[in-house]
Amino acid sequence: MAKTIDRIVKKEHEKDIVKKVYNKNQSLFAILEKIKLYTSRTGVLHGVRKIEIHGQTATITTHCGQTIEVRDSKNSRVGRWLRNRWMVEPCAKCKIPGWKLEKYSTTRFVKKRSR
Ligand SMILES: [Zn+2]
Repeated sequence: MAKTIDRIVKKEHEKDIVKKVYNKNQSLFAILEKIKLYTSRTGVLHGVRKIEIHGQTATITTHCGQTIEVRDSKNSRVGRWLRNRWMVEPCAKCKIPGWKLEKYSTTRFVKKRSR
């Protein structure tokens, strides 16, 4: 069962400090390029080494050497998992550094109001 990253990353403080806030309505590719993390179909969180965008699709290369084709969709599974910070476990081969996991755990995706 998926859980949010908050339960995996050990918090130094009890209080959840939100450091980064991203607009949740931006494209999946923009999110991937910013956070450099990708959640696989099975819920494994990979580190993104490279992202090549070709129009509506992108090829993601993970640090563990996998290449994954993703389609740019605001309502895709990947986008939903990333925005909710759901995951089953971090990839052992990608060796995502602790600071990165911590940064992700304090990132929130919110709906920005247009003025
Ligand atoms: Zn990996």
